[in-house]
Amino acid sequence: MKKYKVTLIPGDGTGPEIVEIVKRVISAIGTSIDWEEVEAGECAIEKYNTPLPAEVLDSIRRTKVALKGPITTPIGTGFRSVNVALRQELGLYACLRPCKIYDGVKTEFKNVDLVVVRENMEDLYCGVEFEPKSDVARYIIERSNKKIHPDAAISIKPISVFGTQRIARFAFEYAKKNNRKKVTSITKANIMKFTDGLFYQVCREVAKNYPEIEYEERLIDNMCMQLVQKPQMYDVLLLPNLYGDIVSDLCAGLVGGLGVAPGANFGDEYAVFEAVHGSAPKYKGMNKVNPVALLLSAKLMLEHLGETESAVRLEKAISKVIKENKVVTYDLGGSAKNYEMADEIIKNL
Ligand code: NAD
Repeated sequence: MKKYKVTLIPGDGTGPEIVEIVKRVISAIGTSIDWEEVEAGECAIEKYNTPLPAEVLDSIRRTKVALKGPITTPIGTGFRSVNVALRQELGLYACLRPCKIYDGVKTEFKNVDLVVVRENMEDLYCGVEFEPKSDVARYIIERSNKKIHPDAAISIKPISVFGTQRIARFAFEYAKKNNRKKVTSITKANIMKFTDGLFYQVCREVAKNYPEIEYEERLIDNMCMQLVQKPQMYDVLLLPNLYGDIVSDLCAGLVGGLGVAPGANFGDEYAVFEAVHGSAPKYKGMNKVNPVALLLSAKLMLEHLGETESAVRLEKAISKVIKENKVVTYDLGGSAKNYEMADEIIKNL
């Protein structure tokens, strides 16, 4: 049997409890994984005085694959977001977030099966920001020829041809491999003509290489309305970083909430699998939060490793437990602890 080495980041808040569950479920499936466990987040700050010690990046550079629990971004301490730093350091430019309704999930919607492809490294997330009245903020305000108040803070939004080409290719390649029919590129190009306009222009060019896949464009505001009115019309959604972040949560809401929304980050060399949700610190230690989002992220990891059969078994077991709706967590209308739900998933493998 093939054995895989995978970096495991338990994270903080409710992260460690759901990561432990995923380890247990994967071991029950029988896929042989040698987990290399490393600390990041609040637990690492106490020990290493940084939330992202070099060991974490070294480990992922060695194993090339990581499964990650959520990590709290401390507000006002001066530490950068570990999640953003990991994506930047490892060149994880593509964020994939499948949003599919499983029978039994509480939602107003039906037949939703969307995939959000979010650019992960450019846009306002680059952190090029200038404080009010700083030299650069003043310089930009003076030269912008716009009516900007002199006490404004300034953020810069870079969107490049290179960055857009690679995320657009990723989206179309994903659509091709997964038998998806349509890619919709989403921006606010009527207002941000250079940055968002460039995003459309490059996506259009890339689309020409995939004539078998339909390509269309929507403005972000209109798209938000359409997604809550007729989400069935859409298939793969392709977005720059910030819109992608917001629309991912919107789509998670369509399919039953953050408890069932998985995610993955891909670069040319490395892949990091994590749920869309954060560390939900108010539930820490209560074994309340749904483990499904991270389990479905682990399913994406199994596919990435080439363990397709294990991935299918895992998804079927999860889907059966959700459909039966007996041993499920609070967000799915039940009262089970997350480890009890995991036991039920294991029974159905
Ligand atoms: P959150 O996703 O942690 O929680 C928001 C709410 O969603 C929770 O209160 C809970 O009601 C629900 N929820 C989240 N996960 C759930 C689950 N598995 N099952 C059931 N319900 C669930 O968002 P937040 O409170 O805005 O952020 C908390 C911390 O997490 C912040 O520090 C934030 O920066 C961080 N964060 C980390 C990541 C990541 O590690 N990738 C992603 C988002 C937020």
